[in-house]
Amino acid sequence: MANTTRGTAVITGASSGIGAATAVRLANEGFDVVLGARRMDKLREVAEASGGRPLPLDVTDGGSVAAFAQEITELDLLVNNAGLASGLQPVGELEEDRVRLMMETNVLGLLRTTQALLPKLEAGDGGHIVNVGSIAGFETYPGGAGYTASKHAVRAISQTMRIDLLGRPIRITEVSPGMVETEFSMVRFDGDLDKAAKVYEGLKPLTGDDVADCIVWAVTRPRHVDVDEIVVRPVAQATATMVTRE
Ligand code: NAP
Repeated sequence: MANTTRGTAVITGASSGIGAATAVRLANEGFDVVLGARRMDKLREVAEASGGRPLPLDVTDGGSVAAFAQEITELDLLVNNAGLASGLQPVGELEEDRVRLMMETNVLGLLRTTQALLPKLEAGDGGHIVNVGSIAGFETYPGGAGYTASKHAVRAISQTMRIDLLGRPIRITEVSPGMVETEFSMVRFDGDLDKAAKVYEGLKPLTGDDVADCIVWAVTRPRHVDVDEIVVRPVAQATATMVTRE
């Protein structure tokens, strides 16, 4: 692990997948990493691998976000990664509770965390916010209305952040992955491992580390360079619905 020279990074949703991989990669790049998520057992494992500090965080709960933010004294990089999909129902059958959960987590959770930590980012020499979006932020697919609506909103928020924070030394990057093999599909299908495995059957999806690699690249550019957006997909995926399988 490198000596800490790049400042402090907060990664939300660091207990698995993209967030966990990003925490380890950022630590290797010299960031002092603070990890937030609900599952403390998994978060502690990532803390061990990254030398980071695990803190409980539920982005859907204002009190939890405030308590988390209070623990952060200095901040240089915020990776808004916590997010989920719930279900894959056509519009006529969409369950409101699932849509509410996706909006609360992916949209309001991201806003809440950003608002709570923005003053700490602004107090430094130059902060950076990375929002983990998705190709679902600009594409749609069958049964995806709730999730794609939430990620379209994330995209709108990222673009608005660039406008609202213009004139302040804060960089904004949105990283929008296609298919990444993580716990994402397991969560979407309520723990149904067979359904989750089918999503990735016959193709080589991205790994959390592939996305972490993009995040690390964006945040290690010179301070005057703002990588606005990165879209990254597996070679086997042309759009959300067009994939090739063996
Ligand atoms: P993952 O393995 O399921 O990780 C999701 C992370 O979000 C977990 O660490 C989870 O931690 C955290 N999280 C969920 N709800 C939370 C809450 N209320 N408060 C705090 N943390 C919460 O899935 P992933 O693929 O790495 O997902 C990371 C991000 O990438 C998400 O924003 C997702 O939408 C996006 N993305 C994924 C894909 C894909 O194909 N996998 C593609 C494009 C974009 P706890 O459960 O411990 O709280």
